[in-house]
Amino acid sequence: MSKPRYLTKSRFKLAVDCPRKLFYTGKRDIYPDMMAGDAFMEMLAEGGYQVGALAKLRYPEGIEIHDTDHATAEATTMKLLARDRVVLFEPAIRVGDFFIRIDVLVKDGNSFELIEVKAKSYNSEKPELFGARGGIRSNMLPYFQDAAFQTWVLQQAFPGAVIKTFLMMPDKAQTAPVGGINQMFRILPDREVETKIPPGVDGQALAELLLAKVDVSTSVADILASPLGFPGGPLPFAEAANFWAKHYATDQPVVPPIGAHCGGCQFDAPADGYLTSGFRECWKEALGWTDADFAIGTVLDLYNCRKKQSLIDQGIYKLSQVQKDDLGDFDEEPGPNGMSIKQRQWMQVAGLPDEDRARGYYLETTLVRNEMTGWRFPYHFIDFETAAVALPFHAGMRPYESLAFQFSHHVMEANGDVRHVGQFLCAEPGVFPNYDFARALMRDLCNDDGTVFMWSHHENTILNAIARQLMEDDNPQDDQEELMNFLGSLTKGGDRAIVDLCDLAGKAYFHPDTHGSSSIKKVLPAILKGSDELKAKYSRQVYGAPSGMPSLNFARPEGFAWIDVGSDGTVSDPYNRLKAMARDMLPAGIDERAADDSIIAEGGAAATAYARLQFEQMDTLTRDRIKSALLRYCELDTLAMAMVVEAWRAECAED
Ligand code: SF4
Repeated sequence: MSKPRYLTKSRFKLAVDCPRKLFYTGKRDIYPDMMAGDAFMEMLAEGGYQVGALAKLRYPEGIEIHDTDHATAEATTMKLLARDRVVLFEPAIRVGDFFIRIDVLVKDGNSFELIEVKAKSYNSEKPELFGARGGIRSNMLPYFQDAAFQTWVLQQAFPGAVIKTFLMMPDKAQTAPVGGINQMFRILPDREVETKIPPGVDGQALAELLLAKVDVSTSVADILASPLGFPGGPLPFAEAANFWAKHYATDQPVVPPIGAHCGGCQFDAPADGYLTSGFRECWKEALGWTDADFAIGTVLDLYNCRKKQSLIDQGIYKLSQVQKDDLGDFDEEPGPNGMSIKQRQWMQVAGLPDEDRARGYYLETTLVRNEMTGWRFPYHFIDFETAAVALPFHAGMRPYESLAFQFSHHVMEANGDVRHVGQFLCAEPGVFPNYDFARALMRDLCNDDGTVFMWSHHENTILNAIARQLMEDDNPQDDQEELMNFLGSLTKGGDRAIVDLCDLAGKAYFHPDTHGSSSIKKVLPAILKGSDELKAKYSRQVYGAPSGMPSLNFARPEGFAWIDVGSDGTVSDPYNRLKAMARDMLPAGIDERAADDSIIAEGGAAATAYARLQFEQMDTLTRDRIKSALLRYCELDTLAMAMVVEAWRAECAED
């Protein structure tokens, strides 16, 4: 028997993103979904499972509906709701083609409390749910709409009921009264959560303290009474929901409402002989295009451009249709201070300046050379892996504290020698890693005053967060002052402030293959492609060899080659060498295509791996494999930075 095709909470959310997605979802063998597995990974990385389990502790009398089959779950729910007073976890409510599982439902006679539990950071002292003009903030709107949809379905199931709607979220205004809270909830292999509250700890009081229960009934009523905005909309709420439910139930696609929102479409998968790109299908259908029309790029490829929708509204879809004035007022040629964002966008449209066409990329050598005059050897390349878990590790800490659990460190000497000299990884369950992380970094960097490099401002943010944690800690560390001085020296304004290479790459470097992005994962393959020195060096088995480039994770007598160079000069992507290892970091059941192309590429794998090491029950072998993958992956991130600087040094020296 085929599964019923109900409009659920997640499908409603998908339809608000874009109703056409309803036609592609769940058909992974035809339309690959690049975000498949994201929901689970997000839950894992953000602590959604722990928050859900903690929320249940607020209602010791609650009854969980465990049935997974729709009809059985619905029957069990309705039987229990026949009681006058009852609290249910995951009750199943179905009305026509709508089917919802509510996180927590409190029934008292004719009154209901519908509670949606979210692993979303909230501060009861500074709620920030609404913007300056009183509207719901865009980052909160999907949660309110989700709650509104559930309220609407429940109201139809119980037309005379009085329903109040709540969001329940970890409250950053509160501090943990006891330590080890995040280890009270462990994820079992079947993804169920095992809750173990130590003797002497009041689970209900803990949940009431750490989880804010926010009444959103008024906003929900407003949402239900107003037109619902979505691509192709707006429509009255009920009309939109019924329209989508009908199309989903009968598996009928809606006309694709293409627009700037297509830029992030998860159905933009690489097409091959068997798989179809939902994105291309939409654009072909809407514009009458063939595959050839995508070849030169669309306006969606424009880097960091806010004018995409206005270009599309004017009928400008291809990069080749964009005129300089469409992007705004700016000088066409970048100056000695490098490129502005508009100049970068224009390079995407018009191509490289004439003098750079032959070599295939643009590099503002004057700017890079000027920057280099302020750098001191040995150069230190560092990269952090961090997480923000929902529930605090220690007494006195708040939900969603920043955790720095890993770094990698490469050094480059003035003669060009590159070595992987340091790393740190602390992912032991329940161990707060930040102070040891800072100490290890200090030990690594305190032997000289060489310039320290990062790729993004994230490292700066994390070092500031650790400094704040040290300052606010009720149990000051013995070396607090030394650590604070060290962290202060590296952060913005410090006498050894870390240099952000990503910022420099954004101003000084452009290669068409990067599509305007300055992500290290895009820049590295492009840099390799354009550098004969790097091609020669890294296609040889020098990495990790005793007489080659020392490595802490790739050491072997015969050495390791990071790239293959094709006879036509093309270069393989070093990150591809690690894909198999990176997959080890992810939970079972994640679509490998999605894992390869989006999750790992964007660095989400490390935070997920950390969450697995913290909360999942696993054997030692699996644990060691994940740690090994984390170490190797982070090592490549700092090596990649060293490679970029190697290429720039060579170019600036010979220019
Ligand atoms: S490509 Fe655009 S219209 Fe098609 S499903 Fe994706 S977001 Fe919707």
